[in-house]
Amino acid sequence: MIEIHYICGFKLFQACKKTHLKEKITNINLMINLVLFGAPGAGKGTQAERLQEKYNLIHISTGDVFRYNIKNKTELGKQAKTYIDEGRLVPDEVTINMLRSEVNKNENAKGFIFDGFPRTTAQAESLDEFLSTKNAKVDAMLALEVDDEVLVKRLLDRGKISGRKDDANEEIIRKRLAVYYEETDIVKSYYQKENKFHSIDGVGSIEEITDRLSEAIDQIK
Ligand code: AMP
Repeated sequence: MIEIHYICGFKLFQACKKTHLKEKITNINLMINLVLFGAPGAGKGTQAERLQEKYNLIHISTGDVFRYNIKNKTELGKQAKTYIDEGRLVPDEVTINMLRSEVNKNENAKGFIFDGFPRTTAQAESLDEFLSTKNAKVDAMLALEVDDEVLVKRLLDRGKISGRKDDANEEIIRKRLAVYYEETDIVKSYYQKENKFHSIDGVGSIEEITDRLSEAIDQIK
């Protein structure tokens, strides 16, 4: 009797193991990781909020994480503050470590929307490396395209309500745009080479832009 139970138990255990494995594999296949890209003011944050709900993804905004840490006066906040106030990029090493730990906080995620990351080729490379340790990858870069003068106006308007120091000053805004063209725009070509690049018109109503992004995501899925 005990033996029969043991055998049944063992078979059950094996069956559970198989189902568990299947679920794990299915999860990996279902996982979708998106890089939402664009210059400051392109609408990444607004769109990421909408897409995370629609596709049940975790939204990680590196800018938001830095601001949270600055507000709470953490060590990371202290390291990032001067760079952010001056419109410069926080050093890669600091940013990459922070991004990894944010991803690791969400082990059961169905996927991520990376907003504001990667901003350099080194960050893009390290993201690939890191995701590969989790049997995952970036599926697509969705780049919101908006003219510079529209960006400046949007950021100045946002600065009036957000209280963000880096949005309130036109000189800092133009510095951030210059940094974008000097250091970040090149990241597009990294994903172009991998056939993962999608250019999305970022001018229109919020709903129209979500529709354009969704169309691109639905093709990838
Ligand atoms: P954002 O909210 O995306 O506009 O980011 C605000 C600021 O945070 C940027 O101007 C940078 O100083 C810093 N920052 C955000 N993401 C990154 C990143 N991936 N690499 C370096 N600095 C970043």
